[in-house]
Amino acid sequence: MSASNTTRPLSGREPRRAVFLDRDGTINVEVEHLKRAEELELFGGAAEAVGRLNRAGYLAVVVTNQSVVARGEVTREGLERIHAHLDHLLGLHHAYLDRIYACPHYPDPGLPGGIAELLVDCTCRKPATGSIDAACRDLGINLAESWLVGDTTSDIETGRRARLTTILVQTGHAGHDGRFPLDPDYVMADLAAAVDWILEGHPALRRRMAPVVAAAAGARLVVIGGLARSGKSSAARVLQEAASATGRAAHVIPLDLWLCPGPEDEANSATARYDIEDMLVTVRRLVGHRDRIAVELPADNGAVRSGRGHSRHFSIDADDLLIVEGAPALLVDRLVRLADVRVHMARPASEQATERRAGPRQRQMSEETGDVRSASPPTDEATKVEAAKARADFIVAAWIAA
Ligand SMILES: [Zn+2]
Repeated sequence: MSASNTTRPLSGREPRRAVFLDRDGTINVEVEHLKRAEELELFGGAAEAVGRLNRAGYLAVVVTNQSVVARGEVTREGLERIHAHLDHLLGLHHAYLDRIYACPHYPDPGLPGGIAELLVDCTCRKPATGSIDAACRDLGINLAESWLVGDTTSDIETGRRARLTTILVQTGHAGHDGRFPLDPDYVMADLAAAVDWILEGHPALRRRMAPVVAAAAGARLVVIGGLARSGKSSAARVLQEAASATGRAAHVIPLDLWLCPGPEDEANSATARYDIEDMLVTVRRLVGHRDRIAVELPADNGAVRSGRGHSRHFSIDADDLLIVEGAPALLVDRLVRLADVRVHMARPASEQATERRAGPRQRQMSEETGDVRSASPPTDEATKVEAAKARADFIVAAWIAA
């Protein structure tokens, strides 16, 4: 027996990569308490997307809360029929799920009409991670290389607790349920776009960001500017992941946290819509700090405006990497001077040509806090943001799905 055999897992199988998928609002259209198989309607492109995961060697694992069972509205057999129908619809597109984990519980023992033994606090109801833990045991999954895709704050919280990379899709609840702080790693229009991102976009942007990652190794502050939908927040996350992989904590600070409420047509300057002075006070304080510092920043401007904002807690050490991203990042002289590395995200010309088309899907593709206003900046703002790339150390091409 050769020595190398001793380093292999006894099972002979490498841990596999998985994409954990929410069901309602992610794979199929959200209906209030889906009870019958006939109510199941897949989102356009969802089956093909699952098929692409299958062929790419990712396990496709559904994790779903089905309290309709505990409520007495659907029997276990009824749930099995719904999932058999889901399998059938996917199979029409040569796609399959490797496993479905459905939590039948509901944590309210007094629920009228409920099934007593299912009205319990369990470990499988999201955002608890019991189902993901079970999948890891059952299927041999490497969580560090796995993803979770869902439409609710509860899904994203589940992924965060399980240390999965998370994608919020802007279908179903689109993250507007307001139950948990919302800080997904990536935001995509729908499941098809999420799978494109996992299989193509993320690996491509990782390659494109490699020189920035190298430069950031010795940096305290990296700023990332560029037009809306050029992938600034995704680039910031990729940089954050790369730093984390080397054991260095990194913090992404979106400039949109300082976006002022108000109609955009009142602004004739690219920076006028932001509270730049307050932003600079905060960033200077973070950059200059020599000890660990704790700060609270609002989590999401849109959520704050609608009164459901959870503030985001940052605990930042003196050696941590700070990444400030936002359209006007390279337009603010004092921020540019403060930075060690400056990045401009460039959009391919063809994408700019479609900028003002702004159909629902186009608007949803804005990953800057989902703020529709930032999806189509005034033309002079776009011109200034584009011109500011002269200040960049790196110009990185955005990844746009084919
Ligand atoms: Zn459960």
